[in-house]
Amino acid sequence: MKRELIRDMGDTVICDQCNEDYTNSDEEGGFIFGSHAYCPSCAKDSLPRIKSYGEEKFIKAKCPEGMSFKDFVVAYRGDNNKVVLITPEEGEDFFDILGRNK
Ligand SMILES: [Zn+2]
Repeated sequence: MKRELIRDMGDTVICDQCNEDYTNSDEEGGFIFGSHAYCPSCAKDSLPRIKSYGEEKFIKAKCPEGMSFKDFVVAYRGDNNKVVLITPEEGEDFFDILGRNK
């Protein structure tokens, strides 16, 4: 038996690459690569590698000029900002484990 934990991420924006929290940041830039949000600095660092692999087609959206990375990611996600975690029924709450290891 598995159970599903559904967490609404709300307006929380965290870079999928470096895990930096951009929720309260006005920094502009970044893009969505596949299903991952790349923050402005990861976007800059990763672009040469992405280009060298010819993977630019996986860049689904780029942060428009004048928009913060945070607003861009929230707008891109729309209502689809829920994270579904599937854990064994007797397993510990993933977020509890995360919190404990901080
Ligand atoms: Zn990053």
